[in-house]
Amino acid sequence: MSGSWLIRGARPLGGDPADILLDGGVIAEIGPDAAAGPAGDVIEADGLIALPGLVDLHTHLREPGREDAETVATGTAAAALGGFTAVHAMANTEPVADTAGVAEQVWRLGRQAGLCDVQPVGAVTVGIAGSRLAELGAMADSAARVRVFSDDGRCVSDAVLMRRALEYVKAFGGVIAQHAQEPRLTEGAQMNEGEMSGLLGLTGWPAVAEEAIIARDCLLAAHVGSALHVCHVSTAGSVEIIRWAKSKGWQVTAEVTPHHLLLTDDLAASYDPVFKVNPPLRTPADVAALRQALADGTIDCVATDHAPHPLEDKETEWGAAAFGMTGLETALRVVHEAMVGTGLLGWAGVADRMSARPASIGRLAGHGQPLAPGSPASLVLYDPAASDVVDPAAHASKSRNTPFAGMRLPGRVVATFLRGSPTVLDGKLAR
Ligand SMILES: [Zn+2]
Repeated sequence: MSGSWLIRGARPLGGDPADILLDGGVIAEIGPDAAAGPAGDVIEADGLIALPGLVDLHTHLREPGREDAETVATGTAAAALGGFTAVHAMANTEPVADTAGVAEQVWRLGRQAGLCDVQPVGAVTVGIAGSRLAELGAMADSAARVRVFSDDGRCVSDAVLMRRALEYVKAFGGVIAQHAQEPRLTEGAQMNEGEMSGLLGLTGWPAVAEEAIIARDCLLAAHVGSALHVCHVSTAGSVEIIRWAKSKGWQVTAEVTPHHLLLTDDLAASYDPVFKVNPPLRTPADVAALRQALADGTIDCVATDHAPHPLEDKETEWGAAAFGMTGLETALRVVHEAMVGTGLLGWAGVADRMSARPASIGRLAGHGQPLAPGSPASLVLYDPAASDVVDPAAHASKSRNTPFAGMRLPGRVVATFLRGSPTVLDGKLAR
């Protein structure tokens, strides 16, 4: 499977050019003049940046149940084309991944597709209905070895259930990933509550609906000494709460999506539901706070919240349209634009926020390791000088709901390797 590959002249983490020799599924050598093994393939990588394979903590692959939106095969193809070597598959499928059986099914489908490791996230509550705990222990003990649990799409709003879930996962070092959305404060909400929602006459979604849950859950995690991960942080106030929780030494981590790093709520003025997402796009001040928090480490990582939807669920009026955006194929380029292009993060920082930290939060062995001899040969080659206009028709995802359609973004993923085997070469699927 994984022969030998010599990547010549790439810049690891954007630093000085080096040759990278991949052999037997690991990085065999990295330095100025690594020799190719016998009969090895060579990639001329002048000007390309080498990063460890990206890890997504938050992907909706939709299978089983909504194969009209995405399948494990198409979603992992999109992931590989975006430079990812591992994704965490959210549990809100049909049926919900709330048993060992469904979690193992998703895990096996990922192995069969072979494009990217698929690590199932288990539901916190049965059917993500929020009334009783799912079989967390059985999922943890299954072949899928589930460690991250989330009802994402819905909030675990019951404080007693949240406390019990946090307590339960301590036994096997798990983490509860919360979709922080106070349900009563967001009934009928369509977009960020503020000046724009007033102008457009759409029901607003107040920042406090997110911040109140995050504050409560940080306190609960501290109270029981367990690990909380906050999904898709979207407001400046949420950042302040997470900064405070971290200053106390509590086990709290957080993610931000690429779209919340680049887009703002004024886009809703188009009434184009491609900009309808949960949590909603916020204000320029929120975007600035999120970028700063990702740069200073208050927010640990970028996670896509890739949420594919078929045309009929998106190409309708705003009020009836589904929430969500695709993101796997554009994530690295958006982070390039929002964080590297603005000088807030270097490429080593990008590797940390998109590979090392998400792998660590997801308890994912074999990913997020440094580009060094002995590490798994899972990496991405990226051309920072390229740029083009995003064309959803060219995407491998089964769905087309990217908010970046028609937007010029920098960069291009040229190649992705998973344990020494190329999944993407010359920007196209290699298998
Ligand atoms: Zn969510």
